[in-house]
Amino acid sequence: MIIVVKPDATEAEVKRLIEMIESQNLSVNYSKGTERTVIGLIGDTATADLEKIQTNHIVDKVLRVQEPYKKANRLFHPDDTVIDVKGRKVGEGHISIIAGPCSVESEEQVVSIAKSIKASGATFLRGGAFKPRTSPYSFQGMGYEGLELLKIARRETGLPIVSELMSLEQLPAFEDVDIIQVGARNMQNFILLRELGKTNKPILLKRGMSATMKEFLMSAEYIMKEGNDNVILCERGIRTFETATRNTLDLSVIPVLKKKSHLPVIIDPSHATGLSWTVESMTKAAIAAGADGVMIEVHNNPEEALCDGEQSITPEQFDKIMTTVKKYAEIENKVL
Ligand code: PEP
Ligand code: MN
Repeated sequence: MIIVVKPDATEAEVKRLIEMIESQNLSVNYSKGTERTVIGLIGDTATADLEKIQTNHIVDKVLRVQEPYKKANRLFHPDDTVIDVKGRKVGEGHISIIAGPCSVESEEQVVSIAKSIKASGATFLRGGAFKPRTSPYSFQGMGYEGLELLKIARRETGLPIVSELMSLEQLPAFEDVDIIQVGARNMQNFILLRELGKTNKPILLKRGMSATMKEFLMSAEYIMKEGNDNVILCERGIRTFETATRNTLDLSVIPVLKKKSHLPVIIDPSHATGLSWTVESMTKAAIAAGADGVMIEVHNNPEEALCDGEQSITPEQFDKIMTTVKKYAEIENKVL
């Protein structure tokens, strides 16, 4: 349930209203936006004393929220969420470019890629240390050592780092990772989501390959319910009948997510198609469709990559894409 507060209500009046609601065993989500101020009610609203709320003089209207996701719902937070990651902003007005190898393979590899993408204008460095591989015989990532190498690359370039956490026991090692990625395969690992919700880390939540938009937002809700509002949604392709591409990039989810939610939306064209030669066109399409950024796999030698070489582009190809991205950003009046 949403309470829209009259624009002339004072802070003290809003505070009193919130206390009255909380005394009914409901928790509230207060959002003072540029256009309107809303109080979202979370909990069993069936027992709420609606009349008492409705007749409060600062209440403009009370709306029922149909969707099961509340904190992730735009009704609860009319303004776009902008997440600050070490001074770099993700969300409204910004285009975030997360680039780097699928997996960290060596210091030389990750530092060299980091320097190249930084020079081209990337805003974050990605690199997998713990890799969710379909085959247990495939390279599983460098683990904790990989995280250390990422930190070296961050020191060399100043780029904040993004890496995937696969299980809770790894959490202490991610304390100094700037954005924690939850991979597609873990999108519904609810225990993991809940624990990440107790941290204040920005979380890049990837859409499960068979997850509906509603399920995707419910996973974001798991994190937000525990108090962590720093959730970035990442569409990375879904499973369809099509086999020409690794997955099918669901571009239409961008405007839908933007309408339903206030959270930033990032597109991963690399995992979406699995084909390096589509990354440029899908990046352009994503930004044109209103995405807040992209995550692109870049490798200095894709043919020799230990993971996802077929979808990885070279630093030179990345540089070319960035020239276009910068133009798009200018047209849309956004900053990188
Ligand atoms: C990745 O980003 O390297 C990755 C494994 O992604 P996904 O979870 O989307 O497959
Ligand atoms: Mn990958």
